[in-house]
Amino acid sequence: MSARTHFSRDYAEARGKFLDRARSLRARVASYGNDRARGPAGEALSTDTAWLGPDDASRVLVTVSATHGAEGFCGAGVQSGSLDPAFAGELPADTALLAIHAINPYGFAWVQRVTEENVDLNRNFVTHEQALPRNDGYVELAEALCPAEWSEVARRRARDRLAEYGRRHGAALLQQAITGGQYTHADGIFYGGAAPTWARRTALRIAREHLASARKIAIIDYHTGLGPYGHGEKIIVHPPASAGLARARDWYGDAITSTALGTSKSADVVGDLLGGLEAALPGTEFTGMALEFGVRPFDETIDAVRADNWLHHHGALDSAQGRAIKAQMRATFYGDADDWKASIFEQAMDAQRRALAGLAG
Ligand SMILES: [Zn+2]
Repeated sequence: MSARTHFSRDYAEARGKFLDRARSLRARVASYGNDRARGPAGEALSTDTAWLGPDDASRVLVTVSATHGAEGFCGAGVQSGSLDPAFAGELPADTALLAIHAINPYGFAWVQRVTEENVDLNRNFVTHEQALPRNDGYVELAEALCPAEWSEVARRRARDRLAEYGRRHGAALLQQAITGGQYTHADGIFYGGAAPTWARRTALRIAREHLASARKIAIIDYHTGLGPYGHGEKIIVHPPASAGLARARDWYGDAITSTALGTSKSADVVGDLLGGLEAALPGTEFTGMALEFGVRPFDETIDAVRADNWLHHHGALDSAQGRAIKAQMRATFYGDADDWKASIFEQAMDAQRRALAGLAG
């Protein structure tokens, strides 16, 4: 089957495809409805899971899509393609696959990175009762990043301001300021939230309900937006010198990158989903990876995220500008072309097979 057939035009189609394929394989399906919001066509929103393999498997490969909603086209396509009799037949003894489809269904449906709370789920797994991480660079740039106007003039002024910060502090600190996460501007970008989101609570509930008796867990969280077109970066967020990082290197090879060691295209972030799930599953051997596929250059990606933030706070979705921004978001996070889909599917399946071999080893 061509890889293209695994991918979908929108959240609703992706959900239907995932559930159909899960049921045809007699996978154990569970749905977690999000009744706080609906999709743009009024469709119901839900995170769905499919469990393939023995109920009591002690080794589990977990895949996640749409942590950043708009990136779900990619991850959901991989997940639907993995719900295939041939891949099911490759599961070793005592091993299961748990596919978590659209952990942020609102963002996927609306083609936004964020959740219905305007929160970046990958910055939300912090302890909100404690002092939250500071991001002085973001505070300094907040107005330039999210101007109230999105005219040519306002955008040029903002771009100059960001470029000036980059000249003063360097590109890495500029990226850290923008994307590292912030807890001060609830209407801003890369906002970590003031409380656990529905998506975070749902992820932890899924972990409790499905992974409590697992001893070894490999998790691949699918992302898009950083790096060269079609290239999969294997991002490891385990700390330096940890067993998790060593295991990931052993399984996935030297091509892995590390946010903690500064070798990743991603900023070093706190409050990410992988860290949150690991903390919620103590006593398991947990090996996490974010597999991030490039689509568009970094500056264009950030520009799309800023435009989308403006649209949802100040603009009109049902306008020519609104539709153009939504098309820009989609093109930024989804390489909607056959070569891109074939390439990322092949890389993702290779990573999943390596994870299965690692779990068995
Ligand atoms: Zn992402």
